[in-house]
Order: sequence, then C-alpha cells, then structure tokens
Amino acid sequence: MKDHRIFNFNPGPAALPLPVLEEIQDNFLNFAGTGMSITEVSHRSPAFDEVINDAVARIRRLLDLDDRFKVLFMQGGASLQFALIPMNFLAAGDTADYVNTGTWSTKAIKEAQVLGKSVRVAASSEDRDFAYIPKGIEYRPDAAFVHITSNNTIKGTQWAKFPDTGGAPLVADMSSDILSRRFDASGFGLIYAGAQKNIGPAGVCLAIIRDDMLAKVPDDLPSMLKYTTYAAKNSLYNTPPCFAIYTVQLVLKWLEETVGGLDKMEAANREKAETLYGFIDGSGFYRGTADVDSRSMMNVTFRLPSEALEKKFVAEALENDLGGLKGHRSVGGCRASIYNPMPKEGVEALVDFMKEFERKNG
Ligand SMILES: *Cc1c(COP(=O)(O)O)cnc(C)c1O
Repeated sequence: MKDHRIFNFNPGPAALPLPVLEEIQDNFLNFAGTGMSITEVSHRSPAFDEVINDAVARIRRLLDLDDRFKVLFMQGGASLQFALIPMNFLAAGDTADYVNTGTWSTKAIKEAQVLGKSVRVAASSEDRDFAYIPKGIEYRPDAAFVHITSNNTIKGTQWAKFPDTGGAPLVADMSSDILSRRFDASGFGLIYAGAQKNIGPAGVCLAIIRDDMLAKVPDDLPSMLKYTTYAAKNSLYNTPPCFAIYTVQLVLKWLEETVGGLDKMEAANREKAETLYGFIDGSGFYRGTADVDSRSMMNVTFRLPSEALEKKFVAEALENDLGGLKGHRSVGGCRASIYNPMPKEGVEALVDFMKEFERKNG
C-alpha cells in the first residue's frame, strides 16, 4: 500500500512523471554527492548552479528560444504576474489589450484595473460562459501588449493558433499548457506559467521574457517586483524556491530524454485528448462543455445528465483509482486534466470507467 498510486486527473497541483518522483526519492538524502539534501544546499553552491543552468538550457532548447529571451524563475505564482505585468509594461498614457476567455483572464484584467492602468478588453467570450475562444479580434496597433490566456484551465478551452497582433507584443499566461505543444515563441514579449499544472510543483513560476520588454521596466519599482532584477541575476537575486526549480529541471530532463522532445509530447497529448473527446462525442450520456474548435488538449470539461450523477461519478471514479475529476467549484460538472505526465493508460482507464458508469446509470 505504501507505494500505491492512482491516476491523478487533478487540475493543479497536478500529476508529475513517476520517474521524476523516483529520482527525487533516490537522491533525496545525498544530492549530487554533496552529502546533503537538495532542500539543504545553498542556492549559491555549484551544485545548485548546475540545476538552474540546466533547467534554463533545457527550456531554451525545448522552445527554440533565441538570444533575445531570458528564462526566469519567480515566486508568487501566475497570480502575482497578473499584477507585475501592468506594473512593468504599462506606462501612463499606454493602453493594453486583453482577451477575456475565462476566470484567469478576468483576474488578470482586474489586477491591471486595481493599479489604475488603462486596459481595453479587445474581446470576450463571457456571453456564452467562456465556452469558446473569440475569433476575428481586432487589436490596437499601438497596444502596449496583448494579453491572452493560452489554455483556460477551468472552462476547458485553448487557443488552437496564437493571434497575429499586428506588431504588439503578445503576453501569455501559459500556466496550464506550457511545453505541451510546439509553438513559435518569437512573437511573444512575455510567457509566464505557474509550474504546478504542467511542469513541476507549486512554488515557482516560469517567466520567459524578451529584451524589448525588459527595456520597458521602470526604475521606480521595488526590486522584487521588477523583471530586470531577476534577469540580471539569473533568478538568484534572493533565495529562489530551490526544491521546486530542481523538480522542474527533472521534469524537463524527462521531457527531453524520456519522452523525446516537444513534438513527441504534443503527439501523445493529441492522442490522449482525441481518445477522450472521441468517446464523449460518441456518447449520449456525457456532454462536452467547450465548443469543438476551442477545446483544450489539457483540461477536458464535461457534464453528466444531472448533478447527482456527477457527484456519484466523481466518487465512484476515485474508488476505481481515478482521482481529481470534479469540475472547478465555480462551474461544477466534471473535468479531466490530462497534462503531459498523464500516461495514455490513464485516459484509457478513464474511458473504460466512463463506459461502465454509463452502462449502469444511463
Ligand atoms: C492555475 C492558474 C493560474 C493561477 O496560478 P497560481 O500559480 O495559483 O497563481 C493562473 N492562470 C492559469 C491559466 C491557471 O491555470
């Protein structure tokens, strides 16, 4: 029982690859020959330098980042980024375009407004409860930046293609789909992602920032609230979340060396999503909540015929070692988060359970 594991469909913190957890366990008492745990070593030690530099190098390789980009590890989660973005990149007299595609975009907009910054909501899908990604959006050519949420963890939608903003830098919250698929990073001024969905544990937030954005950062901000502070010190201005960064490094190593890179990861993610959506679409019992062309490969949201059945479904699934299938408390229903670490076998086990549940309750 001690090592009993279930298929973990939690939205975040979420499943990590088993080989990564095992590697942490194996090296926990004596990290890299130091005779200390990674949780005990100095962030200024050569052993930790190796960890953070390797993590940065792997992200640069996986996303094909050119020299204009800096890879940063920050704290405060994606939620602090919501505030840092307008503080750092929205000067008086400037306006930013935000696309509102759900709970997290709404929060990002709110933080900019709290700071008294000028924000235009360029498009919103709120009219249909955020079930789709708006199309044909017109962005202001003079927007300081265009902010999007690439994957909407709660509503189960995802940008299939990133928008052409006509020159304004894209700023994207990729918390729940970073490194799940290939994309061209060159049009992005800033990409940020709380690690706890797709690439690691809670406690660290990845930020990938282009040099033209760094040049906009004003001097009159506290050090910890400026991207330039992190960029100048390789994220080591103060003590970073060493253990979380180490775990991210191991996940990146797994992604490159075990999975075989981003194209293989994307193919596996597509296959998992198609398996699950294909089954839902063929069933008259389960119903997907997102528009087909806006569906997320990461968070599959669906309903059953009644709330009572949904409750029973979530409870019985857990009895069958399928955990974390309850929808977000704000929307109800069910949600299967099938991030990078979820193996195909987990999705197949879920589909088998769904078939059986429908047979008994349909
Ligand atoms: C979970 C999530 C957040 C919030 O992240 P924190 O790290 O908890 O602040 C923001 N955006 C998206 C898309 C998320 O999925």
